[in-house]
Amino acid sequence: MIRELFHRTHRHCTRAALLTLAALPAILLAAPPLRADEPYARTRDYDLQHSRISLRFDLEQKKVLGEVTHTLSILRDGTARIAFDSADLAIQSVTVNKAASKFETSHDKLIVPLPAPARVGEKFEIAIRYEGKPTKGMYFILPDKDYPDRPKQIWTQGESEDTRYYLPTYDYPNDRLTTETILTVPASWITVANGKLLSVTEAGKGLKTWTWKEYLPSSTYLITVVAGEFEEVKDSWHGIPVTYYAPKGRGDRLPVNYGRTPAMIELFSKKLGVDYPWEKYAQSMVDDFVAGGMENSSATTNNSRSLVHPKLAPEYLTGQDDLISHELGHQWFGDLVTCKDWGNVWLNEGFASFMEVVWTEAHFGKDQADYQRWQGARQWFDNGNLWNKSIVRHDFEDSSEFDGNAYEKGAWVLYMLRHQLGEDAFYRGLKHYLEVNRGKNVVTADFARAIEEATHVNIDQFLGQWVYGAGAPKFDLSYAYDNEKHQVALTVKQTQKVEGRVGIFRVPVDVEITAGGGPKLHPITVSKAQEIFTFPADSAPVMVLFDKGGQVLKTADFHKEKKEWLYQLKNAGEFADRADAAAALGKAKADDEIIAALGDALRHDKSWGVRATAADTLGKLGGAGAAKALLDAVNSSDTPWVRNRIVTVLGNFKDDAAIAAKLESLAKQDNSYRARAAALQALGALKAPKAFATLDAAVAGDSPDDFLRNAALRSLGSLGDDKAVPLLLQWSAPGKPIESRTAAIRSLARLQKDNKDITKQIATYLNEPHFPVRMAAIFSLGSRGDATAIPALEALLKSGDLSIEMTPMIKGQIARLKSPADAKNNSRASTDGENEESGRGSSGENVTTGQRLEKLEHLIQEMNERLKSIETRLPPPKQ
Ligand SMILES: [Zn+2]
Repeated sequence: MIRELFHRTHRHCTRAALLTLAALPAILLAAPPLRADEPYARTRDYDLQHSRISLRFDLEQKKVLGEVTHTLSILRDGTARIAFDSADLAIQSVTVNKAASKFETSHDKLIVPLPAPARVGEKFEIAIRYEGKPTKGMYFILPDKDYPDRPKQIWTQGESEDTRYYLPTYDYPNDRLTTETILTVPASWITVANGKLLSVTEAGKGLKTWTWKEYLPSSTYLITVVAGEFEEVKDSWHGIPVTYYAPKGRGDRLPVNYGRTPAMIELFSKKLGVDYPWEKYAQSMVDDFVAGGMENSSATTNNSRSLVHPKLAPEYLTGQDDLISHELGHQWFGDLVTCKDWGNVWLNEGFASFMEVVWTEAHFGKDQADYQRWQGARQWFDNGNLWNKSIVRHDFEDSSEFDGNAYEKGAWVLYMLRHQLGEDAFYRGLKHYLEVNRGKNVVTADFARAIEEATHVNIDQFLGQWVYGAGAPKFDLSYAYDNEKHQVALTVKQTQKVEGRVGIFRVPVDVEITAGGGPKLHPITVSKAQEIFTFPADSAPVMVLFDKGGQVLKTADFHKEKKEWLYQLKNAGEFADRADAAAALGKAKADDEIIAALGDALRHDKSWGVRATAADTLGKLGGAGAAKALLDAVNSSDTPWVRNRIVTVLGNFKDDAAIAAKLESLAKQDNSYRARAAALQALGALKAPKAFATLDAAVAGDSPDDFLRNAALRSLGSLGDDKAVPLLLQWSAPGKPIESRTAAIRSLARLQKDNKDITKQIATYLNEPHFPVRMAAIFSLGSRGDATAIPALEALLKSGDLSIEMTPMIKGQIARLKSPADAKNNSRASTDGENEESGRGSSGENVTTGQRLEKLEHLIQEMNERLKSIETRLPPPKQ
C-alpha cells in the first residue's frame, strides 16, 4: 500500500504532522486502538489452493451476495474441521464435496466440520453461500440526493486483514491460491479483478457477468474487486494488457497521469532481471479510497485523487509517479514474493518504496532521486516514535507495523546495501531473491540467504544493526589540520544513546578531502563510539565531506566554520552535500554573506532540491535580506514547484508590506496555479490587510478542480476573520463539491468559537454518507473545543451506520472536548507564523497551537487508518 497520495510535498506534509507528535497532548493520542494484526504467521491445517468467487450486489442495501467454492488440501493428519476467517457475514449454507454440511459461526470465524478426520494430502471442495453488509473490506460508493450524478462504484481493500469482511476465506499472507472471480453487475458497468478476463456474458435483467481468472497463486489480502461506472484506457507492454480505469467522466485524466506505466514496467523488468510476472496490469482509480494505493496482484487500486486535472498535472515535477511506481514495484515485492507475516512487511513496503527511487533516478535523474532519499531520511529522523523500534518486529499492538520503519527506513536499507555491494552485485542479488522465492512467502532470512548466494557477501551483520536492531548513527564530527605532518585528523563520535536495540554502528563511509591537490576520496569504516582517522593532505583543506553523497542513514553534526559551509554549498559535486550545507547555514547567525550565498543557491543551483532547501533556510533565518532574496528568486524562477515553494516560504514573513503586496499580486495573477494557491494560503496565514477581499474573490472564481477556491477556503480559517462565516457556511453545505466542503468545514470550525449555531451546523454533517465530509466534521468539532458537540458525537457512535474504523477517531475527539485543559497544558507554546500546512518545509518550529491540533487531526486519522492496516495518507492539502 502507499500512504502518500500525491506528491513528494504531500509526503512532506505527512511527515511534518508526525514531527509534531512529541508536542501532542497525550489525551488526544489515546484513541483506543483497533485489533492489531496478527504478528506471526499461523500454523496451517490446510492449504487453500483455489477459490471460485461469485458475487452479486444489492445496491439499495449495500450488500454483497456471494457464493465461494474453495479447493483445499489437508496439511495435518487428523484435521477434523476447517476454520475460515469470516467477519460478520451471514452464512446461508455450506457444502463439503457437494454434500450439505453443518457449520458454526462466530463474529470472525466460520467453522466447517469434515465428515471424518482427514489425512495429509486429502482434498476437499467446500462451497459457501453467504451474504453480508460489509463495514470494511468492501465499499459501496453511490449517488445520493445531494450528489445525484456520482458514478457508482464498488471496490475492495483487503490489506491487511479485511478480505474476511466480504469473503469467508483463509485471511493471512502465509498461503497462496489461484482465483476465479465472477461478478454479475449492471450491463453498463465495468469490472476489474485479478488476472485475465475470460468472458463477459449476458445475465438477464439488464445484468452482465464478468469472469476473471488469476492463474498465478497469491495471498488473499491481494484479492480485488472493482466494479462500477468507469471509463477505460488501454495500453500494453510487450503484448501484456496495461489498462487504466477512471470513474465515469474523468477518463481524459488517465493518460496525463498514468501514461508512463509501460515505461516503468520496462525499467523494472530490466533492472530486476525478472519480467513483470502477471497476465495484465490494471490500475483502477476509485473515489473515497481508504488508502493512496493498493497493489492487488495484477490489478492495483489507487485513489481517484491521483487523477489530477490535466491543467494542474504539469505543475508537479514527478506527477503521480511515486504512487504508480510504488504499487508497480509491489507486483514483484509483495505479490510475486510475499512477506510471510506482518512482522516482515518491510519486504513488501521497503522494497516498493525503494522502487520509487529506482524510477525517479532513471526518469528524473539522480539529483531528484537523491533529494527524495535525503528528505526520506530527515522525515524518518523527525519521527521519534520509530527510533527504538526495529524494522522486523512482532510487537505491534500499540502502533501499526505499516510505519516509517517499514517504508522509509526499509528503503534506506536497500539504498545502503546497493551502495555497499555495488549496482551489479546488488541487482544480481535481487534477481536471485525473486527467482528462488517466486510464488513463495518469505522472511528476512530468505533475503539474506539469497544475497549471500548470489554475491558471496554475508550481510548478517548489516541486517543485524539496520533491520533487527533499531536507530541509526548520530555523528558528531570535527577535524584538525596538522601543518607539519600535512595531515587531517578527523574525530568521529557516535552520539546516539546505546540502549535497547540501538547500538554503536559499524558502517563504511566515504570521506572526501579537498585541499591544494584537489579532491581525494578515502573510504573508511567507522565502528566505535569515538575514533580518530588521519588522512594526508598537502595543505589545509577547503572542504571535508563525511559520507560523500549521503549514502548512510544518519545525522551528522559537523563542526565547520561558516566559510566551509559556504564553500560546500557552492562547490560540492553531489546533491546531498550541497543540501546539507544549505540546511546547516540555517543554524548560523544570519549575515549578508550567508543570505547572499543562499540567495545565489536559490536562483542558480542545478538541483531544485538544493534551491528548495535554500528557500526553507532563508525563511527560517528571516529578516529583510532573506525576504529580498526570496522575492528576487520568485521573480526569476518559472518552474511551478520552485515558485510554489518560495511563495510558501514567503508566508513566514510577517508585517512586510512588500511581501504582502507581492502575495496579493501572485494570488490574483500567475502562470502557476500552485503558486497562486500558495499565495492565497500565505495571505491568510500572515493575516495580511487586504487578505479577506482577495480570498473572497478567489472563492468566487473558477479554476481547474476548484484548486484556487479550495486554497482560499482553507486560508479563511487561518485568517480568522469572522466576516468569512456566511461564505464558509455556504461552501460547507451539502451539494457543493466534497473537497470544497471539507476545506470550508475545517475553516468554519476555527471562527466564532463561542457561536453554538456553527457547532450545531457542523454537527449536522456528521450523519452524511460521505467519508471525507464526516471526517472533516468529526475532527473540526474536536478542534473547535465547544463541548456542546459531545452529544452529537456520542449519538454518532451509537448509530449503526458507521464504518468500524471511525469509532476510535470519534472517541478521541470526544475525549479531546471533555479535557480541553489537558490539551492546552501539553501543547508546546506556539511561536508565530500562521503558515499553512502546505509548505512549512523543514522549518517545523513555526506553528501555532491551532495548527498543531490540526496536524493532530491528521495524525490520529493516519494512525487509525494504519490500524485498519491500510496505507495512510493525509487528506492532501491540494496545493
Ligand atoms: Zn506499499
